Amino acid sequence: MEYQVNKKVSIFSVLAISILSTSFSTAVLSANDDSLTVYSTRKEHLIEPLFNAFTDKTGIRVKYLTGKGGALIERIKLEGKKTKADLFMTVDAGNLWYAGTQNLFQPVSSEIIKNNIPKHLRDPNGLWSGLSVRARTIIYSTDRVNPSELSTYQDLANKKWKGKLCLRTSKKVYTKSLVSSLIHHDGIEKTTEVVRGWIDNLAATPHAEDVHIMGSILAGQCDVGIVNSYYFGRLQAEDPNVALKLFWANQDSTGTHVNVSGAGVIKHSKNKENAIKLLEFLTSVEAQKIYVDLNKEYPASQKLKADNLIALWGDFNQDKMNLSVAGKNQADSVSLMQREGYK
Ligand code: FE
Repeated sequence: MEYQVNKKVSIFSVLAISILSTSFSTAVLSANDDSLTVYSTRKEHLIEPLFNAFTDKTGIRVKYLTGKGGALIERIKLEGKKTKADLFMTVDAGNLWYAGTQNLFQPVSSEIIKNNIPKHLRDPNGLWSGLSVRARTIIYSTDRVNPSELSTYQDLANKKWKGKLCLRTSKKVYTKSLVSSLIHHDGIEKTTEVVRGWIDNLAATPHAEDVHIMGSILAGQCDVGIVNSYYFGRLQAEDPNVALKLFWANQDSTGTHVNVSGAGVIKHSKNKENAIKLLEFLTSVEAQKIYVDLNKEYPASQKLKADNLIALWGDFNQDKMNLSVAGKNQADSVSLMQREGYK
């Protein structure tokens, strides 16, 4: 009874399958089947090695379905008590928080998870846990910027960066979460001024992807930007001499904004015990190593060091704001950016 969900199914067919098909349900719900089903917005190559390691260790098989966050969340809601999902995995605390508000998760109280994952990277009510960490920080051209000119996210609003700044679109949850953290630390008024300054300094319309920001800096269109650390890691792995560097923002104040990929146990999981086992395993040193190797991310567990390449970027102080705040402030963050015309 090998059931493999095709990762390439479109959102429409995902929804159609969810509504129309019963073969999936029959396969998963058969008696004595203690296998787990994970719905994931992370791509196959980033999750399969983790699940294989879990199966090797426990004998529990893991099936998975990948897709876009919005569609998967809707699907889980639609399936309700009949859902096959045991775990939902996604990126960004804003998304995890949203899934929590949609009643997708059940609280998990696990000493193993509490021991492995620092408090600020977990939901205060145990609904989800961070599993890998990415820093969203400043990136600059090593040809045109002296790092002594850099300091904070807020300083990128300074007129000295006029026409030199590239940013990701405000529609991306990564931007929403960063601005949520600024609201948390500085309040709406000050953050409004910062966002206004950023927009004033833009060299180009906000980019759809972090990789485009790096490309624009390399092409000379702008000098500085803000990106997730792993995008730079991937680029640097391809081209060790790339003329870009990360700068750890806000080291003398709030720390660099970090975010997570993470997961939570589905409220209507039929296999809660094993689902918790899988979540606990994902926080273990063994699984955390796989995370680090796969995507140039930082381990969420503090029991393990970053990989060689990202360790070369040096240590930095993380912003210790609890990441659920990235979700709680999201509505304020979105309306602030809309008011200021941040595209
Ligand atoms: Fe990403």
